[in-house]
Amino acid sequence: DHNMILPRIRQLDEGAVNRIAAGEVVERPASAVKELVENALDAQATRIRIDIADGGRTLIRVTDDGHGIDAGDLPLALCRHATSKIDGSDLLNIHSFGFRGEALPSLGAVGRLTISSRAAGSDGAATIHVSGGRIDAVKPAALRGGTVVELCDLFHATPARLKFLKTERSETMAVTDAIKRLAMAEPGVAFTLCDTSQGGDRVLFRADTAASLSDRLTNVLGRDFGANCLPIDAERDGVRLTGQAGLPTFSRGNAVHQYLFVNGRPVRDRMLTGALRGAYMDVLSKNRHAVAALFVTCDPTLVDCNVHPAKTEVRFRDPGLVRGLIVSGLRHALAQAGHRASTTVAD
Ligand code: ADP
Ligand code: MG
Repeated sequence: DHNMILPRIRQLDEGAVNRIAAGEVVERPASAVKELVENALDAQATRIRIDIADGGRTLIRVTDDGHGIDAGDLPLALCRHATSKIDGSDLLNIHSFGFRGEALPSLGAVGRLTISSRAAGSDGAATIHVSGGRIDAVKPAALRGGTVVELCDLFHATPARLKFLKTERSETMAVTDAIKRLAMAEPGVAFTLCDTSQGGDRVLFRADTAASLSDRLTNVLGRDFGANCLPIDAERDGVRLTGQAGLPTFSRGNAVHQYLFVNGRPVRDRMLTGALRGAYMDVLSKNRHAVAALFVTCDPTLVDCNVHPAKTEVRFRDPGLVRGLIVSGLRHALAQAGHRASTTVAD
């Protein structure tokens, strides 16, 4: 049919591009909190404070004592695909949480974002504000050091997303869970999460600098966890497995107490949870789930964390190796504690 109107192709403007990207990076307040706290960790912060109001919907503020951002770089921090963390030449060798340069521009497209920062060694602080994708000029600010990122009215520009948010209580729980996961992997960093909804500061979670990973795990997950878990330390072909795994008697009716990390990054990965289930197969009934905090550490080139913008999925170059390491490492620890599997350990 030659009378048909031919659709022409056009380039979307940056605001639309950022809102589309935001859909993948920022699902809910907890994902915004995760991105901001990861940025603080990447900036070598040792103290991170997170304030939220209304489950993070009206306010998320992350204050850190990291190295800060040069005033001249503030506009770039809000640009897509602009990052200080990689140079683009080696996408397989990633040592930071961030590398895609997407979080801040995405947050600026779906909320009112203000970044104030004082770069290490600089004699003054500066601030920049973006709302609905419109970026204001950089202004001087008062800040002794570090960075404060404030995100107000998340999703005010995307009402559909706003509508899908759960209750304040469940968004607050998701934020707390995201902070706890990050805190588990960073014992050297002090975290405070406060709810400012009622005017004052209600502390939701707090973790002072811990001397060791196991101290931090006990601090975050409770004394019961520490008392009912076995220390795990196994290695195979350059991949290391550490952390703690619960005794079968300490199992749960759901899998929410399974915390998995790959190179310090909290992940949710089917292969890893499957391996965990496999390790306990003979000592737990089908409807019971092990409690565990497990850390897989390997050369960054052996794992791709660039599978999804949120970076919670990973692909190992040799998944069989990692699976085998988890199954045999956990079964070995369980057997030593007297929980022998009925079948032979598959190595
Ligand atoms: P990415 O983390 O992938 O680099 P972001 O959009 O999250 O992308 O951040 C863009 C840049 O802004 C970072 O590369 C970093 O240089 C800077 N930045 C963001 N947050 C902070 C922070 N809290 N402290 C210091 N620099 C920061
Ligand atoms: Mg980032």
